[in-house]
Amino acid sequence: MTENKQNDGQQAAELANANAAAVTGTGTGEQWLSRYKESLMGVFGSPQRVLVRGAGALVWDADGKEYLDLLGGIAVNALGHAHPFVTSVISSQLATLGHVSNFFTSPTQIALAEKLLELSAAPAGSKVFFANSGTEANEAAFKLARSHGGKERPTILALEGGFHGRTMGALAMTAKAAYREPFEPMPAGVRHIAFNDIEALRDAMDSSVAALVIEPIQGEAGVRPLSAEYLKAARELTREHGALLILDEVQTGVGRTGSWFVGLPDGETADAMTLAKGLGGGFPIGAVVTFGEGPSRLLSAGQHGTTFGGNPVATAAALATLHVLETQNVLANVAAVSAVFAEGLAKVDGVADVRAFGLLIGFDLTEDIAAGVVTAALEAGFIVNAPRPNTIRLAPPLNLTAEQARSFLAALPALIATATAAAQNPEKSA
Ligand SMILES: *Cc1c(COP(=O)(O)O)cnc(C)c1O
Repeated sequence: MTENKQNDGQQAAELANANAAAVTGTGTGEQWLSRYKESLMGVFGSPQRVLVRGAGALVWDADGKEYLDLLGGIAVNALGHAHPFVTSVISSQLATLGHVSNFFTSPTQIALAEKLLELSAAPAGSKVFFANSGTEANEAAFKLARSHGGKERPTILALEGGFHGRTMGALAMTAKAAYREPFEPMPAGVRHIAFNDIEALRDAMDSSVAALVIEPIQGEAGVRPLSAEYLKAARELTREHGALLILDEVQTGVGRTGSWFVGLPDGETADAMTLAKGLGGGFPIGAVVTFGEGPSRLLSAGQHGTTFGGNPVATAAALATLHVLETQNVLANVAAVSAVFAEGLAKVDGVADVRAFGLLIGFDLTEDIAAGVVTAALEAGFIVNAPRPNTIRLAPPLNLTAEQARSFLAALPALIATATAAAQNPEKSA
């Protein structure tokens, strides 16, 4: 062998064994964060930590500190971090066929569409469109509504407190004015009506309404459920007035609440459902399911598209995630661990209200100290989130163990005490 050939072989071996550090270099948390500030747009504020590694429900930061991840990338890491089966399927798909244009299809795309139709008990004629995120799934839903309504039905109803994403159509449907107003004019026609208020819905429904878009449980608003009566009325009134009912299950879908989807009461189906977050088990993917023939025909050839949507790796990741959820009895675990949280949280002093829907859990504190609890939790090695000043949200991996749940419950009184002390004496804690 010539020396050159030997070097080539050595180089190939190094490349095949390379991990991300080979292209990033290394640093402490502090070093990375100062580089972050210099290079990343400030839309997310200051990141809390620099995370470098995960396994199951645990993650480690750049300084080697371990955390129990009770947020799961905001309801994304359905099976925790680095799940061996999901990782293996993704790696082998990437090593086999990573991307094709939508002039072509691939087995994983087709099999995932079939699987979603099966799990959602979709009636004949139902179809799937794949996107790459929640906001993109909702953009497709927005276009479904426009296609259905045309110029005669320009109105899209959405709810106060609702969150649907950050691109323009999804943003128009998102309630929070501070997210929307700097970017006006919005796509026209969206109206926000009161949350869980059947009379307000009845008043708003008329022949100008193309669609009602709702989250069955509002996640970003602090885990607030719509009542079964509201969901029933939503189905009846949209049907009566010829409008589409679109469920945004980006956060609630794919086993998060202990069933595959929240859906509607009485075995009714919506006209469309959007998914993302947990679907790919951590890999980016979004989807729209249209239920029945009518909604499934609203977008025809050429009317919508995406370069990456439905790509082999993302659809393989989702298939692998669904396979594990289905074959490892994970939804039963969701119900069991949810009960551990619900019972335990209700007993903690300073916790006012607990809303546990599977492993999508919001709990209110008696004081506005949620941000302080998040900080104290991080120090103590737990990742949680504060969607409101007095609300903590948990959306951990669906395979979290009861023991892991109990470790947080045991720590929570001290976290609340720390946050309370910090609120009473801000100078000392600063
Ligand atoms: C997170 C979320 C979205 C947006 O999803 P992205 O992937 O961040 O674009 C939309 N709807 C709901 C209900 C969500 O929770």
